[in-house]
Amino acid sequence: MQTDISLQAYNTLAIPAKAQWFVELSNTDQFPEVSAFVSEQTCPVMVLGEGSNIVMAHDFAGLVILNRLMGKRVLEQDDDHVLIEVQAGENWHQIVKWTLDNGWYGLQNLALIPGTVGAAPIQNIGAYGVELHDVFVSLKAIEINTGNTHTFDKKQCEFAYRDSVFKHQWRDKLCITSVIFRLSKQAKSTSHYPALQQYFSAQNITTPTPQQVFDAVCAIRRSKLPDPQQLPNAGSFFKNPLVSQQHYQKLKTSYPDLVAYPAGEQMKLAAGWLIERAGWKGKQLGDIATHQQQALVITNPKQKSGQHILKYAQQLQTVIQQHFAVELEIEPRIYGL
Ligand code: FAD
Ligand code: NAP
Repeated sequence: MQTDISLQAYNTLAIPAKAQWFVELSNTDQFPEVSAFVSEQTCPVMVLGEGSNIVMAHDFAGLVILNRLMGKRVLEQDDDHVLIEVQAGENWHQIVKWTLDNGWYGLQNLALIPGTVGAAPIQNIGAYGVELHDVFVSLKAIEINTGNTHTFDKKQCEFAYRDSVFKHQWRDKLCITSVIFRLSKQAKSTSHYPALQQYFSAQNITTPTPQQVFDAVCAIRRSKLPDPQQLPNAGSFFKNPLVSQQHYQKLKTSYPDLVAYPAGEQMKLAAGWLIERAGWKGKQLGDIATHQQQALVITNPKQKSGQHILKYAQQLQTVIQQHFAVELEIEPRIYGL
């Protein structure tokens, strides 16, 4: 175990927090030693992928396990489908590219999402009308305290909107080691999101191929999302809030251009729209700001502490509550509280 390691290069908000202990996991054979260490120290544990969905509130008085388990393989295939198993430390976007290059479809709308494969089930990553659960079969994980292995099928993961069982009863107790996906060999795509519709209608494309959807998603994302290497950020800082039909109707009366979509019996409000309408798009307080192009992204250009970022987020939450009586929930996981 290494001690007193800076996590600044390991989180996309570039927060200069430290980990008391740190280990890079490149082989599951390391687990008995890791489990023994955690039991001996009785310390908290954080499994870290690429740090694109965390906020370090303070230094972490525990063990950080950097997941770098690599590898991918085909488990089985027929004329229509392929089942692949990917190790948790693989980069998500590279796997999306690899599947497309092989003529296996289903991940194209999730192109350019930063992070590792092992983190994808944690919040059931989603973008442009597709969520991880659409192609997910199962995952393998090791229980950190005991070293016991577990398999979770789709039902056991309890996937929901940016949510899963791994944010609740299994929070910080497991290290996901691999994920199994079922992809299609039929070149079908989902392209109903307005940004994709606009992109394809400008090019007179009526039925885009999966490769065209991949290219479009990459182009749109590059045009409006800040690259964390240039401008530290953690993507959307808040989830899109779900509200009752009654609350939605009330808001819609006051704000006829409110952007919202049905979500089961509730309505999902576009949090970016709420922030923009409250006058906080691009607003800077101290050294923290929301992005000029995308109000839902909080940026940390001066690489300040998590406390600075969380203070900004709290002020924004208060403003949204006062304007719209809506609670914004922080999406990234907060550590070191
Ligand atoms: P980390 O930030 O390292 O970890 C996130 C959480 O997962 C932590 O709680 C961590 O403990 C846990 N974790 C990570 N790996 C494991 C593992 N192997 N076992 C157990 N727990 C684990 N998200 C979306 O859903 N859709 C988007 O379109 C999207 N766009 C983004 C754009 C930008 C510019 C950025 C910066 C982020 C975006 N995100 C998006 C958020 C983020 O990319 C995803 O949540 C991603 O899955 C996080 O991967 P990571 O490896 O960086 O996870
Ligand atoms: P956008 O296209 O401006 O749309 C605004 C919001 O409206 C999105 O958040 C999306 O919700 C929702 N939406 C749009 N069309 C919809 C439809 N047909 N049905 C249901 N909901 C619809 O969004 P954006 O901010 O540029 O992001 C584009 C996509 O990338 C979104 O899916 C977004 O979630 C994803 N993204 C996520 C992160 C992150 O860190 N989590 C960061 C960047 C982008 P959903 O968010 O539920 O899709």
